[in-house]
Amino acid sequence: MSLFRSLLLWASKNNILRRKLPELYFVRKAVKRFMPGEKLEDAIEAAKKLQQNNLDTVFTYLGENLTDISEAESVKNHYVKVLQRISDEKLNTEISLKLTQLGLDLSFEKAVKHFEEIVLQANNLDNFVWIDMEGSSYTQTTLDFYSKVSKNFTNCGLCLQAYLYRTKNDVKKNLKINSSIRLVKGAYRESSEIAFQKKSEVDKNYIDIAKILLERSKEFNPRIVFGTHDSKIINYVKEYAKKINIEKEKAEFHLLYGIQTLEQEKLAGEGLHVKVLISYGEAWFPWYMRRLAERPANVWFVLKNIFSK
Ligand SMILES: Cc1cc2nc3c(=O)[nH]c(=O)nc-3n(C[C@H](O)[C@H](O)[C@H](O)COP(=O)(O)OP(=O)(O)OC[C@H]3O[C@@H](n4cnc5c(N)ncnc54)[C@H](O)[C@@H]3O)c2cc1C
Repeated sequence: MSLFRSLLLWASKNNILRRKLPELYFVRKAVKRFMPGEKLEDAIEAAKKLQQNNLDTVFTYLGENLTDISEAESVKNHYVKVLQRISDEKLNTEISLKLTQLGLDLSFEKAVKHFEEIVLQANNLDNFVWIDMEGSSYTQTTLDFYSKVSKNFTNCGLCLQAYLYRTKNDVKKNLKINSSIRLVKGAYRESSEIAFQKKSEVDKNYIDIAKILLERSKEFNPRIVFGTHDSKIINYVKEYAKKINIEKEKAEFHLLYGIQTLEQEKLAGEGLHVKVLISYGEAWFPWYMRRLAERPANVWFVLKNIFSK
């Protein structure tokens, strides 16, 4: 991992920067590239436009590592309301959330209870809830959490990260219990003891796991999602799926709002299932730092904003 990337990921965890940087005008302006706005309404408007171009969406209300369990209740209420709103607006939109935003750091049981209320609302409205994967200190707890909630609800799926050595085994275990999986490369700072550090190694592991997912999708029904903007990987997945006769609908591609927008439209134009993940909310700083770290060239975009009007 480059020093610059490590620095950005360190910044994502720094409380002083988390408080101060979002106050700066040029940072607020630059973040707009990755999110339509802080309000739910902004996300809804963006989703309506994308839907006109055959692009479905996933909403994430930004926030993580709550320190007060009562806030988790408000987050739960927010998501329950959002699911109703999605249904009222007839949007093809799912949701994706972080367990630490439901208070996982404070109480596993309370986080389960909140999640179950959200996923029940989703079930009643024929919708689906994705669970994000956070830093490695949460990997096992998140897997345990998913194993518990997915016994009662099939309309939820789990994100797994290809940069972790353990993920290949986690995928195999989860496929046995028919889990829906969203495979991503991984966005946090992890040590070489537990995670691949070089892009080439992460990409290779991603492809190995993608092959396992595609091959097994012949026998199991849950969803498989490839959460990536990497066109080489996307092309590989498409070709491999074709080679082993997997129907187009089985492999989905989810990309982030504002990244590879032409690729998003191209994939949808090919008749593939594509969703765009739209984030909104005021707590965007750590999430934004991770987006900058994924492509340090993005920092030039921020700097350009200092000098542009
Ligand atoms: C739908 C979705 C859900 C995700 N959920 C999680 C999660 O729960 N947990 C988690 O750890 N990570 C999550 N991620 C982030 C993921 O782990 C990667 O950090 C991120 O997707 C970048 O990796 P990549 O696969 O796009 O490949 P990369 O090799 O990083 O990028 C491939 C190409 O995509 C473009 N690109 C990638 N990122 C950016 C960017 N930020 N800005 C501009 N261009 C970019 C560039 O052109 C780059 O060359 C998610 C990503 C997606 C798309």
